Amino acid sequence: MTNYNFTDGVERNVTIGKLVCLARTYKKHAQEMKSDVTEDPLFFLKPASAVIFNGESIVTPEMSKCLHHEVELGVVIGEKCKNVSQKNALDYVLGYLLALDITARDIQSEAKKKGFPWDIAKGFDTFAPISDVVLKEDVPNPNNLDISLKVNQEIRQNSNTSNMIYSVERIIGFISQIMTLEQGDLIMTGTPEGVGEIVAGDLLEAELGNICSLKVNVS
Ligand code: MG
Repeated sequence: MTNYNFTDGVERNVTIGKLVCLARTYKKHAQEMKSDVTEDPLFFLKPASAVIFNGESIVTPEMSKCLHHEVELGVVIGEKCKNVSQKNALDYVLGYLLALDITARDIQSEAKKKGFPWDIAKGFDTFAPISDVVLKEDVPNPNNLDISLKVNQEIRQNSNTSNMIYSVERIIGFISQIMTLEQGDLIMTGTPEGVGEIVAGDLLEAELGNICSLKVNVS
């Protein structure tokens, strides 16, 4: 069990729970994947054991020959909730972070073809790098945050959370109809366009507004 770190350096003893990851939440990313956008959010789970932190390394698994980066806004739940209305959804948020949904794209493509679950492509150790958490009090509007990712200094992904098809409120409301959200659960809200390959030796640097950053490499 691992705890979150916070941008203000205060230790809060919040353990990382389940990782609920959204897919196809930005139209242009759905287009680049030749996927349809769904009416309700589409999601899968990643294990908390996949989490790594600032300064650590994404490890390429032997089973994959093609890792992709996906930079995403992460929403950390602060309080247990179920069947939350959109109006009250943000009351249950502790804060926000930057997350990378690292994906073994070759394994995922194979799974998609066969109609199998994606977990095998998403759940490897080190496949969920996360930044420190910014408390929600310091984030006036999670639905309007610049989000970007550079690989070896080159901008690969650059968008704003206002381009998401679903608001953070809608996402929390929808997921909480299916599963109880608990303190420390992390919702990864899906990636904008520009996903691409990363290889050993690459340096990944992500920014969320001016409120947090994440730097990891690939080993
Ligand atoms: Mg993703």
